[in-house]
Amino acid sequence: MNPDPDYSAAYVVLRTEEGLEGHGFTFTIGRGNEVCRAAIDALAPMVLGRDAADLGEFARRLTHDSQIRWLGPEKGVVHLAAAALINAAWDLAATAAGKPLWRLLSDLTPDQIVDLVDWRYLTDALTPAEALDLLEKARPGREQRIAHLSEHGYPAYTTSPGWLGYSDDKLVRLAREAVADGYTQIKLKVGDNLDDDVRRLALARRAVGDDIRIAVDANQRWDVGPALDWMRALAPYHPWWIEEPTSPDDVLGHAAIRRGLGSSGIKVATGEHAQNRIIFKQLLQAEAIDVVQIDACRVAGVNENLAILLLAAKFGKPVCPHAGGVGLCELVQHLSMFDYVAVSASLQDRVIEYVDHLHEHFEDPVVIRRGAYQAPVAPGFSARMKAASLERYSFPNGPAWA
Ligand SMILES: [Mg+2]
Repeated sequence: MNPDPDYSAAYVVLRTEEGLEGHGFTFTIGRGNEVCRAAIDALAPMVLGRDAADLGEFARRLTHDSQIRWLGPEKGVVHLAAAALINAAWDLAATAAGKPLWRLLSDLTPDQIVDLVDWRYLTDALTPAEALDLLEKARPGREQRIAHLSEHGYPAYTTSPGWLGYSDDKLVRLAREAVADGYTQIKLKVGDNLDDDVRRLALARRAVGDDIRIAVDANQRWDVGPALDWMRALAPYHPWWIEEPTSPDDVLGHAAIRRGLGSSGIKVATGEHAQNRIIFKQLLQAEAIDVVQIDACRVAGVNENLAILLLAAKFGKPVCPHAGGVGLCELVQHLSMFDYVAVSASLQDRVIEYVDHLHEHFEDPVVIRRGAYQAPVAPGFSARMKAASLERYSFPNGPAWA
């Protein structure tokens, strides 16, 4: 579905009168990146010369504008643009506080966290009072969980063996390497050709053994019926989850797939393209998913992801973020670590996607050791790209484009 990505980002730097900077971006796969940039420009008057101390108010200011909202209420390009700005404001706040973002969030009180969330359209599934209760219940053990993250990191899984187009030999070699590197889960792309997928999954299963989880990802390729037929053919090799089996807007379609898979034990995962907290609410209410896949830039930044983390906790579903692309690993690790410390208080069945690609452009790149994201220690949201990379790749005048 995404055969020719040209990994890109609409990149924002906020500067304060005191000389602080906050960096943020939203990820795209190429064409259309300039549309995100135009949407950021349209939101700029709500930011320039304005206060950004109250980040709940800041996020609502960017998502509630009556005229911008007409373009797409809390979805699409406008939401991607809001993500870049809101994430930049959080990078600014964490930098000013001298803490990595996951620690800044973990040090907030339950009241402060609840105030950061836009509760509009959520209260039939989760009320602020319930969220407060949930956060209070997660308070015991926070220091131990922070210590655990600092020592062991947060579990990752890798998609490296599983791209379509790799030879069988390369798939088997990379799958074995992933296990040797300490990963307990890998992921294979599927959905192009059923015979190929059956063969590839059988090879991968033989390569990694029965104890390693193998997720599969269809990137929205199927209708409901074909999704069920395809997954029944793969079931003998025990895929752990099917990711994005169908349209990200199709809540009832996901529910039908999950029901249809029933006793197979295959979980349904989605979210990297789910446009906002309301779709996640419906996916959870409709029992359409087993795994909640947040993305740091798809929805309106940290604030909207806080809402989604709280919804996942309320419904008892693990959050396993989408990452890869450019900078998504750097950002989303902070959200999962905060989730573990202050919201779900659990690592059970939770893993962050990892792809070893483009980290060299970041000042504070992710560190993976023994199949786990090591907890960031530098202040900020790990969002800053190196000045040389920004200059070289700036579109259209950077030398890389000449
Ligand atoms: Mg995916």
